[in-house]
Amino acid sequence: MPDTNVAPPIAFIDLDAQRRAIGPRMEEAILKVVRSCRFILGPEVAQLEAELSAFAGVPHTLSCANGTDALALALMAWEIRPGDAVLCPSFTFAATAEVVAWLGATPVFVDVREDSFNMDPASLEAGIETAKRMGLRPRAVITVDLFGQPADYDALLPIARAHALKVLVDAAQSFGATHHGKHVAAIGDMAATSFFPAKPLGCYGDGGAVFCHDPETLDVLQSLRVHGQNNEDKYENIRVGMNGRLDTVQAAVLLEKLRVFPAEIEARQTVAARYNAALADVAIVPTVAPHNVSVWAQYTLRTPGRDRTAVLAGLKARGIPTAIYYPKPLHHQKAYAKHPVAGNGLPVSERLAGEVFALPFHPYLDETTQDRIISAVRDVLA
Ligand SMILES: *Cc1c(COP(=O)(O)O)cnc(C)c1O
Repeated sequence: MPDTNVAPPIAFIDLDAQRRAIGPRMEEAILKVVRSCRFILGPEVAQLEAELSAFAGVPHTLSCANGTDALALALMAWEIRPGDAVLCPSFTFAATAEVVAWLGATPVFVDVREDSFNMDPASLEAGIETAKRMGLRPRAVITVDLFGQPADYDALLPIARAHALKVLVDAAQSFGATHHGKHVAAIGDMAATSFFPAKPLGCYGDGGAVFCHDPETLDVLQSLRVHGQNNEDKYENIRVGMNGRLDTVQAAVLLEKLRVFPAEIEARQTVAARYNAALADVAIVPTVAPHNVSVWAQYTLRTPGRDRTAVLAGLKARGIPTAIYYPKPLHHQKAYAKHPVAGNGLPVSERLAGEVFALPFHPYLDETTQDRIISAVRDVLA
């Protein structure tokens, strides 16, 4: 007989809870695509693009194969090339800088603020100067809305404008978040997101999207997505592109998930508020600026002065899974260490990498489970 007193295991992100909540509609939507055999650019793809545009209040959406391709498509549309500098944070997922390096351009790493984990405007200014001093052309900045909170656009956008930099919002973790009521996908010159399953709006595989403001850019993105084709004559190739389409099956999955997404964003606020209220006296809890709504892609704590390895081991012993986003800033990673950093270095990114850890978080985290996590954290930090 199983011991019924043993509490069930806790998932870091419980995708199956969401699947159960959506119910049989999802299986039906997937089967419909399978029966139609329109696997590539079927009607669900254009429908999803229209619904994402309406949801985020952005004129044009181009779906694509993943969030990394979404970032690359935007930079390719701007013809970013060798000799160009693209400013980006170092405290982020590798894809943010990877796409810059793909194009032979130079990522210039910028520091973040410790209260928001997002790009520090002063460090952006320093990074632009660093790029110029090295003889590079500063062309664009990739802001990242880390862990789901919009970056400090009130300060960052004017700096970008003053230096004629294009702004690409890496909204891989923040799709659905708002800044002064505006969706992150509508901020900047273009935005990119990811539908990787663990992201706030995830599909059942890989997926992504690019958001833009004018039909000319959309036309270029559409061409780039299918091998640089002439959109009017597909066997004419007018630029070097990629194969970056979103599968129809994934579009069907996302259409169903989009229906429950607003309620999930609400639920995420409740879960985050409960964590904050219960843990603020034992750890540094994440803060969200009053003009921002975060989608809480991660719930990240800091316990400076404590041995993080020991804290995480204590949580593991109590059955609580954790994760570290990110243990090593990009400017310390082998693949990116050769690229320049802003000013005299990135001290905040380096410190945060040694302090942060994330707790289980998803919109279906029930209070009983969350209370188990909270008491384990309090116990370990006592
Ligand atoms: C996940 C992520 C990406 C890449 O998205 P994929 O769909 O995995 O290619 C890019 N930037 C950030 C900040 C991410 O978190």
